[in-house]
Amino acid sequence: MYTTRELKVLLQSRGVVLPGEERGRKGGAGPAAGKSLIFGGTVANVPTQSDFVASSPFSVRSRDEGFWIYEHEAPLVPVTFPHTPHFYAKRTSDGTPMHKVALLHGASCLASTVCQRCVYYGTPHACSFCGIELSLESGATIEEKSPAQLAEVAVAAKEEHAVTHVTLTSGTQRGRDRGLGKLLAAAAAIKDASGLPVHVQTEPLPELSLFDELPGHGVDTLGIHIESVDDAVLAAHAPIKARLGFTRFLAAWEKGVEVLGANQVDSFIIAGLGEDPDLTLRRLRQMIEAGAYPFIVPLRPIPGTRLGSWLPPEPDYVRSLLEMTVPMLSDAHLSWKRSKAGCLRCRACSALPDFEQA
Ligand code: SF4
Repeated sequence: MYTTRELKVLLQSRGVVLPGEERGRKGGAGPAAGKSLIFGGTVANVPTQSDFVASSPFSVRSRDEGFWIYEHEAPLVPVTFPHTPHFYAKRTSDGTPMHKVALLHGASCLASTVCQRCVYYGTPHACSFCGIELSLESGATIEEKSPAQLAEVAVAAKEEHAVTHVTLTSGTQRGRDRGLGKLLAAAAAIKDASGLPVHVQTEPLPELSLFDELPGHGVDTLGIHIESVDDAVLAAHAPIKARLGFTRFLAAWEKGVEVLGANQVDSFIIAGLGEDPDLTLRRLRQMIEAGAYPFIVPLRPIPGTRLGSWLPPEPDYVRSLLEMTVPMLSDAHLSWKRSKAGCLRCRACSALPDFEQA
């Protein structure tokens, strides 16, 4: 029998075969090619579409008038899917389907990629694991979401009690703020209209003083995603982030914490890109001591990306990385429970919060 946190790690590495056509969305930012499952008091976004999923021992099947997660033929635990929100069937006042503006992520997060194009996408500078424009190409979303559209969707989602917080991300844009201004305008409109806590994700900007504008625009939490703290891995998979370097990220996390407080700044750390575990742990300690939470996620190979044929890391590796990170979090008094909004509060993509609870 597995604990909830062990099962979450297993499902995120192996994937889950789902019944029917319930396989999740194809491209986009965040947990693409996956689906959120609720079980054992947690929520987990798990791969459901990549080729490797077909050989997973885990599936979801009907049982006792509901659904259970199975390992081969053995039922493990009851599972539910987040409800399909009613706002998905509505349109904004300019006629745009609301499901093309923002989606329910995890169990209660409204998420949107405000600008669905990235200046690096399709160039040698692009991140190897990213599928941000795939959902645009498939017609599942629109290129840019206006503050008014996002505010309307946030109000509709809040009114039906579908969401309690908001995550806004973006592809990198041209200009000195790399697109932060559009995220701030969106955040301010959402906060004014709905009052929901808002998380935004951005680069470690050359002018970190721009982060001083976050609170005044209704931003509660900040994601500055380095993806890997191993320089060689970054050079191979995220060349622009490699050029920025760990020190620049560290300064940006520190500035974010200065502006928004500890537990309100995080960074995705992808496990399974070939990183050096010792270097990774040393640098995770540095970022944690700076007050930023490492949101450790297993590599999610997305069909249609450069890493589409890769496999997620072995669950034993992920589990040991998480177990070694938890004491660092408690030493620094960091906890997902104190995050006001965003991926850390959602926790569907990382099992680190579940290990922290244990
Ligand atoms: S953790 Fe972040 S990316 Fe993953 S489902 Fe939640 S909001 Fe989306």
